[in-house]
Amino acid sequence: MAASLRQTSGLYFSVPFCRSKCTYCNFASGVYPASEHSKYVDRLVSDLSAAPAWARSMQVTLSRQVDTVYFGGGTPSLLSGDHFRQIFRAIRNEFMLTRDAEITVECAPGQLSDATLGAMVEVGVNRVSLGVQSFIDEEAHRSGRLHSRAQVLDDLHRLRSAGINNLNLDLLAGLAGQTLQSWRESLSVLIDTGVPHASVYMLEIDEESRLGRELLSGGARYGAELVPSDDAIVQMYEESVEALSEAGLKQYEISNFAQPGRESAHNLRYWQRKPYLGIGLDASSMLPAEDGSVLRAATTADLDEFLKHSDRQEPIIETSWLGPTQQIEEAWFLGLRRNAGVSFAALRKEFGAEAADPSIAIARRLADEGLLSIQRGKAALTSRGRLISNNVFAEFLGLGRGWSVEEEDCAEAVAH
Ligand code: SF4
Repeated sequence: MAASLRQTSGLYFSVPFCRSKCTYCNFASGVYPASEHSKYVDRLVSDLSAAPAWARSMQVTLSRQVDTVYFGGGTPSLLSGDHFRQIFRAIRNEFMLTRDAEITVECAPGQLSDATLGAMVEVGVNRVSLGVQSFIDEEAHRSGRLHSRAQVLDDLHRLRSAGINNLNLDLLAGLAGQTLQSWRESLSVLIDTGVPHASVYMLEIDEESRLGRELLSGGARYGAELVPSDDAIVQMYEESVEALSEAGLKQYEISNFAQPGRESAHNLRYWQRKPYLGIGLDASSMLPAEDGSVLRAATTADLDEFLKHSDRQEPIIETSWLGPTQQIEEAWFLGLRRNAGVSFAALRKEFGAEAADPSIAIARRLADEGLLSIQRGKAALTSRGRLISNNVFAEFLGLGRGWSVEEEDCAEAVAH
């Protein structure tokens, strides 16, 4: 077992509440009365307290040293200040937050009260991710977002005044009514804000969102007829890579851009296969076992089902044990998300040359096809490979018994 898998843990809390449902949203989130929030937070706290015993029963290592905490969802900023205090009391009871721990909360613009912001600062939150998606008010509203550009700028001002300067803004390419011109405007406003981190996603079209279903069935609701073409979305993405880079936000992952040193430590944890504990609805965990295998566990995405149980174990709907071959698969399809790529030497060191080399042969073939570049013993996606990254990742699956993870569970590759 690599030493890196043993050092510290990350904690992920899922908060599935939203004030309205965005048309493109394919996450386990919904609009619930505030009365549900307290019930849910009680449950988060109880599951967190039960986690060390659960880890022992599963014979996996859960380090009490925590250096990243991430609240995603959903809209965690809808929780009250007291909810955050309650959760952090539980964290500090069970775990030890390192002095420089990165603590992130995803917020919806215009949906962060002064009381909640004050409590976030009080408990140590030092990073905020704002789901903007578009700075063009008409596009945002058509997608079900409730905020305006002015509110985003006001929130940034409030956050900075409160001492939170480590800020991320999300943009989504592919919104109904978006044009290359309006995209450039959103990008330019984002750059002008001076935030040190940006995430750029491309619209996912699937059965899980209202807009996705409408597009698949050829309907016109939710502005489906106004969704830009695939080529336009690709151009928006490619222009972002260039514009953000020129503005000092270097791409370090398929969808993520940051000033040096401002990369998301929590999300790097996913791509580097470092351990984390997921708490709440539709949350996944990854923890190493003594024998070198790795446990992945995921909870149900059904809130009623989740709340009906009182035990941490019961809502876990999937557990998988990954042996070396599946871990090598993961090392590729998670590692290749990063611009830093996958190091052959590190792979051989962790798994042995005999186990690692067949996958390195696949990487060399993909490099011949122009999908990967190999430099100084590291393979990384090329620009072309990045646009069809799922096809590239699929090449590495099936090295073992083909266990795969939902990428959304493992990455910040989501738009809120
Ligand atoms: S995209 Fe984010 S904010 Fe919108 S409904 Fe989904 S989880 Fe909520």
